[in-house]
Amino acid sequence: MITIPRYITIDNGIDALYDILLKLNLKNPLVIVGKKTKKYAPEFDYVYYSDINLKDEKVIKDITKEYDSIIGVGGGKSIDMAKYVAYCSKIPYISMPTTASNDGIASPVVSLKQPSSMVDPPIAIIVDMSIIKKSPRKLLKAGFGDVISNITAVLDWKLAHREIGEEYSESSAIFSKTIAEELMHYVLNNSSIKDFPEKLVKALIGSGITISMAKSTRPASGSEHLFSHALDYLKMKYELDIESLHGEQCGVGSIISSYLHHRENSLDKESMVNIRLSLKKVGVPTTGKELGFEDDILIEALTLAHTIRNRYTILRKGISKETSESILREAGVI
Ligand SMILES: [Zn+2]
Repeated sequence: MITIPRYITIDNGIDALYDILLKLNLKNPLVIVGKKTKKYAPEFDYVYYSDINLKDEKVIKDITKEYDSIIGVGGGKSIDMAKYVAYCSKIPYISMPTTASNDGIASPVVSLKQPSSMVDPPIAIIVDMSIIKKSPRKLLKAGFGDVISNITAVLDWKLAHREIGEEYSESSAIFSKTIAEELMHYVLNNSSIKDFPEKLVKALIGSGITISMAKSTRPASGSEHLFSHALDYLKMKYELDIESLHGEQCGVGSIISSYLHHRENSLDKESMVNIRLSLKKVGVPTTGKELGFEDDILIEALTLAHTIRNRYTILRKGISKETSESILREAGVI
């Protein structure tokens, strides 16, 4: 059974919300919001995501007792929390993103705890572009890194199908790859990219839907995501004060993964070069230094990326320290 959102609108924001609530016969939603994004929330009862104790499912159920739905308003965390609370309480949730830094705005994936888990996707996604356009540029740039990841994620998925017989869906793969390539070519072929925020939001929503279609994060998460997760792990391990975002790290991960796929002839040179050029044009970091990491951390991240989760990719059974260093040099990341 595949569940995908029933309503998606990126035009009218809050006005569309009331209409959609009516259509869905939802009368009493609870809003989950962040302190910075409270000003964008519709006028219903609300709770700050930071006040919800994740550890206790019973407390979560108590919070939602009187409500028939959840509305997540904000960046990644509010929407992630809305997904989890809705899942625990067995009620639907609506995603109202105030920025577009990753495909979590539309996907069924909860990333509050690692490893991430799969729940239902939002029943509706309501975007107000005037709010998205006001959000920090760094977040929107990171969103591009998360979209571009689809290209190498799909190559890794195909490789896993070929080499270890993993289940693979050509339609989900093509959908995911096309979304990323369309946005990439828009960025490369236009001198002014004034429609970028709107195209980015559409691409991230599309990516989220491919995850629902495939019932797996495979279409949007491969070795480039493993590399990003490895960086997150090392940030925690060494208590590094680096503010690189998921999508930014995935963008650099895509440069590494596209280089590896090009080396094995599963990606042509032009596509590999276009990935880097488009990231550069949008202003997403393309090197470890731009992300804020020392070389030795990047090398360590690449050596342990394959251990982060049970996912077969072009990293296969892992890469030695020496090879990692030469790959990162050849890919232009260090
Ligand atoms: Zn991602």
